[in-house]
Amino acid sequence: MIESIAAIHTTKNKNMLLDVIQIPDPDKNQMIVKNTSSAICGSQFINLSRTPKTPELLGHESVGIVVKIGKNIRNFKVGDEVYLSWVPSISSKKTNYLEYSEVFWKKKSIKSVIYTWSEYSLVHKQFVHKKNKKINNIYSSVLGCAGITGFGIVQKYKKNIKGKKICLIGFGGIGSFIVDACVHFGALSVDVIEKNNLKKKSIKEFKINNYISNKNNINCKYDVVFDCVGNEDSLKISSEISKNCIPGNSEGGIIFLVGFPLKEIPFNFRNLLMQEKTIIGCRGGNIESKIFFKYIEKLVIQKKINLKKYCTNIYKFEKINNALNDFKKNKVAIRGIIQF
Ligand SMILES: [Zn+2]
Repeated sequence: MIESIAAIHTTKNKNMLLDVIQIPDPDKNQMIVKNTSSAICGSQFINLSRTPKTPELLGHESVGIVVKIGKNIRNFKVGDEVYLSWVPSISSKKTNYLEYSEVFWKKKSIKSVIYTWSEYSLVHKQFVHKKNKKINNIYSSVLGCAGITGFGIVQKYKKNIKGKKICLIGFGGIGSFIVDACVHFGALSVDVIEKNNLKKKSIKEFKINNYISNKNNINCKYDVVFDCVGNEDSLKISSEISKNCIPGNSEGGIIFLVGFPLKEIPFNFRNLLMQEKTIIGCRGGNIESKIFFKYIEKLVIQKKINLKKYCTNIYKFEKINNALNDFKKNKVAIRGIIQF
């Protein structure tokens, strides 16, 4: 058994509680990881905006060190550096995705799929990914969600990116990786639509052709649009700014749906059909995690990708509520990071 300080979510829109949880020894397919850093993903605010039936542990991307392993685990050992990510590291038709683990708080059980806002995490092996020790163990916590989703989706569909005019809506953790990946895979141009002018400062480090803060100023049609927001407005814009087809000659544009929609959204299917457009749903980059991590680690080691620039706001774990509040107030330029 290990005692760990964890951030516990009990009541909507209230601060998370920092308290001690009891983590039992791992069962045969589980591991305990001591986190060194975790990132804050916008999608966690869905959880934070509702009161859970039972207390929740959150966070789904981190880096850390393996401290205990279950007896069926062969390919990891104590002392290994790893990424934790909600994207599975092992997956087949037979995989039972989303295996739970159980910890205790005030003697009550808390069951979680994955959580990383905790000094230690007990997780099923499917959420653990090998990490090269040459990769910085603070900044790389952004790879488990923002990195694999943003870079991964471009890596997966790189043939549709090379030489193409790209636009992305919503510049945050995922969007910043999309920009870099599009540049890396040879896009002709990358424009960004982002209302929050605070982000203008941090985009200087990215090769963006046009930063558009007012969507009415768009007079261009794009081969590929990434919707990193996922609301009715952003989907409508995606549909409007993706290029039309020339019947019998060339198809219309591609829209990647990356931002997580909080509810059902109406969509203009007539435009989709008439203009021969394609929508591709993206969950975690649609890519095999091993392929992504191997590739991005190579780029980081070759200094072609600098992970530090995505980590614009770094907080001590004790300040997690400040980190969450800064995010809510749009004060986080790209990704907020918690350091343990
Ligand atoms: Zn995420």
